Amino acid sequence: RAKAEGRGTYRVFAADMDEEAEERRVLESDLRQALADNALNLYYQPQVDGASGVLVGFEALVRWTHPVRGEIPPSVFVALAEETGLIITLGDWVLREACREAATWAPSLKVAVNLSPRQFQKPDLPETVLAVLAQTGLSPDRLELEVTESVIINDMARAISILRRLKGFGVRISMDDFGTGYASLATLQAFPFDKMKIDRSFVAQLGVDPQAAVIVRAVLSLGRSLRMGVVAEGVETSAQRRFLADEACGEMQGYLFGKPRPIGDYAEMLCCPDESEERLHGARARA
Ligand code: C2E
Ligand code: MG
Ligand code: MG
Ligand code: MG
Repeated sequence: RAKAEGRGTYRVFAADMDEEAEERRVLESDLRQALADNALNLYYQPQVDGASGVLVGFEALVRWTHPVRGEIPPSVFVALAEETGLIITLGDWVLREACREAATWAPSLKVAVNLSPRQFQKPDLPETVLAVLAQTGLSPDRLELEVTESVIINDMARAISILRRLKGFGVRISMDDFGTGYASLATLQAFPFDKMKIDRSFVAQLGVDPQAAVIVRAVLSLGRSLRMGVVAEGVETSAQRRFLADEACGEMQGYLFGKPRPIGDYAEMLCCPDESEERLHGARARA
């Protein structure tokens, strides 16, 4: 049966492939258009101090509402931008927009911006960052660049030299999604990150899988030994928050404190973050 259908099946498969490739081409050209039209949006997710719960900054996360297809997840269009090289234009836009926005906030608030591996293949990345800081007036120590270890392992020597130059300006570097890649410890040893972000897959398992607590404690202890800050991602419940606070986790981020939203939704916290604690989790703590 399978043999008899062999040729036909192949044709259907090939047609599917064509359709998929065609769909990608269309999506790519729509994304190019969205960039040209300045039609992407930046959302901002709060990051809070682990002990006090006070707002310390926001992570900028890019969003695209396609005119026909609606919301496209970043996992889809950032990946597409990576593959097609559009990430350079996209990444420049995100960086500029996030710095411009953050320059208007209280000076204690930082902004975290994600960088893609492809952005590291352009040797002028540090100059781009420096120019954006100069143009927006954002103090370099208020900018945190989040990189995953895929950035580092592609071309370790080159990535490290770029990261060192960025650090030389006073910009902070965070290792994103820590614990998910196989080279984590080697990359930590090779480059002095300011922070590591514990991947939310571990945080999600707290209270579910006892191993998760062991791993999270180990990462926190590693952070203390290496003098790196630790941020827990994906904190959704007060039980997770309590565990992390008891273990002296430096900073937290997750739906418990706020989802990624347009910055206007957080407007009342931007001037006086010390008063943000009640707003971010007062209601929940009382509930
Ligand atoms: P990431 O940098 O690790 O960002 C954290 C992701 O976790 C975000 O997904 C955020 O919405 C989600 N998240 C935060 N808290 C929670 C929580 O409590 N529960 C759950 N379930 N999820 C939570 P998002 O916005 O879909 O972004 C996915 C990834 O896309 C990011 O992962 C980042 O790698 C990439 N990305 C997003 N924006 C940009 C960008 O501007 N540039 C680049 N290069 N990559 C970006
Ligand atoms: Mg990130
Ligand atoms: Mg992450
Ligand atoms: Mg992630």
